[in-house]
Amino acid sequence: MRTCSKCNASSPDDSQTCINCKADLNEFSTTTVTLKRLRENPRVRAIRLTVADDACPHCYELLRTYSKEEVPVLPHEGCSHENGCRCFYEPVLEDTAIVGKVAG
Ligand SMILES: [Zn+2]
Ligand SMILES: [Zn+2]
Ligand SMILES: [Zn+2]
Repeated sequence: MRTCSKCNASSPDDSQTCINCKADLNEFSTTTVTLKRLRENPRVRAIRLTVADDACPHCYELLRTYSKEEVPVLPHEGCSHENGCRCFYEPVLEDTAIVGKVAG
């Protein structure tokens, strides 16, 4: 499943454009936009994949933390779930313990 960042419509994993507004999903899907943002953020040290509770075994297998360069493109190509891949990117930030202390 690919969610359009412009209109929020969901398109199948293999769609190249949004079924609603025709936006290019290789540029404007929420996962693509998120990945770009995380990669450009110097505070993001690594990127973790999160999966839905009922994700398929293929997606579960790929559930881990990746470096910014190695993180796989979503949706996962071999996903076998009937609704498609619903994995998401999550930032792993620099150690924020000290910063948190200062902020009180
Ligand atoms: Zn759209
Ligand atoms: Zn899957
Ligand atoms: Zn997946």
